[in-house]
Amino acid sequence: MAKSSRGNRSAVCSFCGSSGNDVLLLAGHDAYICEACVEKAYEIIDLNRHADKIQNQKKVFKEAQLLTPKEIKKFLDEYIIGQEEAKKILSVAVYNHYKRIAQSDNVTKKKENEVELEKSNVLLIGETGTGKTLLARTIAKLLQVPFCIADATAITEAGYVGEDVETILTRLLQAADYDVKSAERGIVFIDEIDKIARKSGDNPSITKDVGGEGVQQALLKILEGSDVFVPPQGGRKHPEQQMIKVNTKNILFICGGAFVGLDKIISSRINLNVIGFKGKLEDEIDKNNILQYVTSHDLKTFGLIPELLGRLPVIATLQPLDREALKRILLEPKNAIIKQYIYLFSLDNIELKFEDEVLDLIVDTALELKLGARGLRSICETIMTDLMFELPNKKGTEKIEYTITKDYAEKKLQKLKSIKHLTKKAI
Ligand code: ADP
Repeated sequence: MAKSSRGNRSAVCSFCGSSGNDVLLLAGHDAYICEACVEKAYEIIDLNRHADKIQNQKKVFKEAQLLTPKEIKKFLDEYIIGQEEAKKILSVAVYNHYKRIAQSDNVTKKKENEVELEKSNVLLIGETGTGKTLLARTIAKLLQVPFCIADATAITEAGYVGEDVETILTRLLQAADYDVKSAERGIVFIDEIDKIARKSGDNPSITKDVGGEGVQQALLKILEGSDVFVPPQGGRKHPEQQMIKVNTKNILFICGGAFVGLDKIISSRINLNVIGFKGKLEDEIDKNNILQYVTSHDLKTFGLIPELLGRLPVIATLQPLDREALKRILLEPKNAIIKQYIYLFSLDNIELKFEDEVLDLIVDTALELKLGARGLRSICETIMTDLMFELPNKKGTEKIEYTITKDYAEKKLQKLKSIKHLTKKAI
């Protein structure tokens, strides 16, 4: 198949000398290149790009290492509304985590008697949709490190149907494009950690607790910082599958959960009646936010094993989002939902506006559905879908202005509200 783009059979590849008689040649200005050399060139470019990316990641990582807790929090402020205490605690945890990594990077320079810094994995406690995942994701964005989310309820202890705990790290490896070094500095968010609590609280169950304590035990292995053999494609470990060794020492684990019922445990510990506060503490206790008084002991009573709690030394609680916070979430974060719609429509030359009452209506609907901020997007989508379908028809014409009125939004939401059996899943 001797061909060249110009049909010049006597031409040769300027890189490897292959003749146009034998290979396909692409012609340039006074030069030719064969298919094989194009592929090789692409590989080299790709490799360089990858090396640049890693270099860049390291640079960002180094720069981020220089950030103070206050600067880390400032970055979080751009994306997360409220949750001041949690942001503060997480900023300090991340800052200390860096110091620890820096210390382990300098093992050779380590001075005698130097204090060994312990790993500071984090536990975030708060209702669904209050920003736990968002916090973890935003930290990963700041550091530009691989990030993955795992669901604790999908894991079972080895030998039972479900995922091995190592598959959590498979996801991290995938997020890192299988670059082990990069994965080893990543962040893992383990959601629904409360769902693997020991079923019977303080009393270990007589029957085997496949999804609970066993999983907590399995998690210890990856949380504490050791070499873990990870199946590259996930799934069950298989004797023939080539495992990838990942050291979890510098991986930051952030666990999150709603811990329904924990408030009662805390209340009874501090000897309070959740409904009517009595005693000396009455004035000092913020009854709207009991979770903030949580201790490891309460979590043990809830059903987390002490060994696991020992691996999660930093605990932060998130507050339920009130009306004002929800409205701010709609408008203020860097990637706020309303900002996104306005931008989306501006690309079609449409200046989108919202009546203030529409925003109140969205917030009220979210509160009604008890979905925290999680419901905001789907409520907005319900209002916006028809408009996103209709309005771009006018593309190409002059810039137009369109205001979404309360009446319009109410009509669109009517359908949503009339579904009596609306469940969290439905939205
Ligand atoms: P959780 O993990 O606590 O269940 P998420 O972090 O997944 O909740 O929150 C769901 C969505 O709600 C986020 O993607 C974000 O858009 C929004 N959200 C929740 N809390 C906040 C917050 N405090 N500030 C800004 N947006 C928030």
